[in-house]
Amino acid sequence: MSQTPPVVTRFAPSPTGYLHIGGARTALFNWLYARGRGGKFLLRIEDTDRARSTPEATAAILKGLEWLGLNWDGEPVSQFARKDRHAEVARQMLAAGTAYRCFSTPEEIAAWREANPRQPFQSPWRDATDLPDAPHAIRLRAPRTGETVIEDAVQGQVRVANDQLDDMVLLRSDGTPTYMLAVVVDDHDMGVTHVIRGDDHLTNTARQIQIYDAMGWPRPVFAHIPLIHGEDGKKLSKRHGAVGLHEFAALGYPPAAMRNYLARLGWSHGDDELFDDAQAREWFDLPGIGRAPARLDFRKLEHVSGHHIGAMEDAALLALLQDFLRETGAPALTDRQRQRLEAALPALKEKAKTLPALLDQARFALIERPVEIDEKADKSLDSVSRGMLKSLTAALQHASWTRNELEQAAKTVAEENGVGLGKIAGPLRAALAGRTATPSVFDMMTVLGREESLARLQDQTELAG
Ligand code: GLU
Repeated sequence: MSQTPPVVTRFAPSPTGYLHIGGARTALFNWLYARGRGGKFLLRIEDTDRARSTPEATAAILKGLEWLGLNWDGEPVSQFARKDRHAEVARQMLAAGTAYRCFSTPEEIAAWREANPRQPFQSPWRDATDLPDAPHAIRLRAPRTGETVIEDAVQGQVRVANDQLDDMVLLRSDGTPTYMLAVVVDDHDMGVTHVIRGDDHLTNTARQIQIYDAMGWPRPVFAHIPLIHGEDGKKLSKRHGAVGLHEFAALGYPPAAMRNYLARLGWSHGDDELFDDAQAREWFDLPGIGRAPARLDFRKLEHVSGHHIGAMEDAALLALLQDFLRETGAPALTDRQRQRLEAALPALKEKAKTLPALLDQARFALIERPVEIDEKADKSLDSVSRGMLKSLTAALQHASWTRNELEQAAKTVAEENGVGLGKIAGPLRAALAGRTATPSVFDMMTVLGREESLARLQDQTELAG
């Protein structure tokens, strides 16, 4: 009985900048596909372009993957470090006759192209037997007739006429491998079974298949996923706002929400919009990937983000908020701030769409006395309302600190003063939080506790006439 080999996927970024949202989604798809099948998810840094690759970019990409929670198996592979292996394969192909030495100079190639417009270059050295001792490239002896057929798991069958492809260079005359050779050798040696990547690589695939075939290596499954477009349907660019994963992190979307949202960018499972990692791992499959470009939709992202924030355990959410604050350079929370913030989470997390929005609502729990009152809130603190706060403070001295009783006390004081509850809520809000946009006053008082709440009220009533 034949056994299906274990799934091995990979993410193969070029370290020339930050981790783009499209790259993050490619990584996620590969991760989900492997993790859902007990397979391996590998990381290869395609750093052969020495002029453009930087260690900073590699670090930024790894950091992005870590933030998104995409753990990879083993050490990241450096493509550049494998250049001798790439050259060795080119020489093997030479020995097997599937490649040949080409002595044409760039000038000769340019002249040939001029004389034969619209035709792929045909090297005069392909069948030469009398070879000079001179610098040369190694080229693939590619088939000149027939077709190279890609069976793509997303794009379907893609056929390329072989007479449209030239004998690609495998090893340059300076001995360096080409990108096309390096990718195939690395994917083969790493045991990659599924290549899931952006469809901007589809045109490379026919050439890569020719190398697999020449080496007699089994082809992996290819799945070319459509790129991500902006909300206007145009190719995603800086002009659309955030495009780097770090920018989404800075906007305060939790990693779990980003995983959920990115999984839905180009892939679907029925009508399911909101799901967790276990569901995504179970559901993710190649047939669910669409052929049309996915559109970034910030409203949807906010919705997904709000769902995940609301569903998170308080302790995990607190840890995430602390990470977020650290990343923004804010000072670490004091023990008291941490306790109050955690106590505030149950009342706040259902409504917040992002981490900064949550922190903004939780501000009352993070500030210390004396509470600074902003201009708008100050308007509700006239002498009449300060007087009401004074009565409330007195009424609350012996109240048991339950939401019910707090509400009752406020109602009684409002009635005594012949006003609605709203009239006392304003000054109460100002005294407790120093501003007008806050969570419910009773939630704030519950979170702050008796001592702190009464102290904040007294700070204002002391000013009463
Ligand atoms: N290094 C390529 C890129 O960053 C990916 C190559 C591949 O996935 O085969 O776009």
